Amino acid sequence: MTSGYYEADYERVVDEVGPTRFLPGSGVEIIREPDRRGPPRHVLFDFDGTLSLVREGWPEVMVPMMVEVLQATGTDEPPEALRDLAFEFVMQLNGKQTIYQMIRLAEEVRRRGGTPEEPAHYKQMYHDRLMERIAVRRESLRAGEVRPEAMLVPYSLDVLAELQKRDVALYVASGTDEQYVLDEARLLGLDRYFGSKIYGALDDYKTFSKAKVIERILAENKVDGATLLGFGDGYVEIQNVKTVGGTAVAVASDEAGRSGKPDPWKRDRLIGVGADLVIPDYRDWQTLIDYLWEEG
Ligand SMILES: [Mg+2]
Repeated sequence: MTSGYYEADYERVVDEVGPTRFLPGSGVEIIREPDRRGPPRHVLFDFDGTLSLVREGWPEVMVPMMVEVLQATGTDEPPEALRDLAFEFVMQLNGKQTIYQMIRLAEEVRRRGGTPEEPAHYKQMYHDRLMERIAVRRESLRAGEVRPEAMLVPYSLDVLAELQKRDVALYVASGTDEQYVLDEARLLGLDRYFGSKIYGALDDYKTFSKAKVIERILAENKVDGATLLGFGDGYVEIQNVKTVGGTAVAVASDEAGRSGKPDPWKRDRLIGVGADLVIPDYRDWQTLIDYLWEEG
């Protein structure tokens, strides 16, 4: 399922989890005790929503654009119905590369008798609009007017600093285009933790997937999946980490409010693909790391 470029659709494999427990005095929720054989050696992070909040609010750009494109087919469906439809499939596909959402948009255009543009064209259009929205954020980071912490999932820098001390290899794998991930990682000061181990979507979308990044980590280091720890707020990375036998931490981040409370939709959805732990952000990083390294 995870080999090659194809990124599988969301598939719920865990229904009922029953009562769960929290590590004492923390917001770290244990869904199931990870099957551990020694401490993690390789730690993989998703980027947007898991570390970076620079693109927070992106659905408010993507969904209206899709509604416009669908309306242009001359459909008589009311805009609210198109909005609901677009929102539904955009969120359903979230975690995959952006191009998959645009492939779906093209299908919906065709379904309404329209002749769609290439998905890459829609992706570019979306990206231009998103950049307009986030340009101020990027520039204020670049100019040093805003501290990176203001645009990171809370306590990201603390958990990364701690992991770096523990002599593990740190990686980023993102469904966002690689050039932007690299740029935004630099703006947020994250490049010092990940070095060149930052991977993102490429123009030829078939040459990248999060599963491929994981396969490469395991093959190049001649280790098995049990040494892998993954953090993500999207189903793809959680699913991929679980498939190889790693430990998956769902980051059910409240991107807009940074409230420290888990986003219930993300939590449920990520538990559904097998997340072992759920956190709202990294504020309890010490408790979390102690637990994962069996030092608690
Ligand atoms: Mg994400």
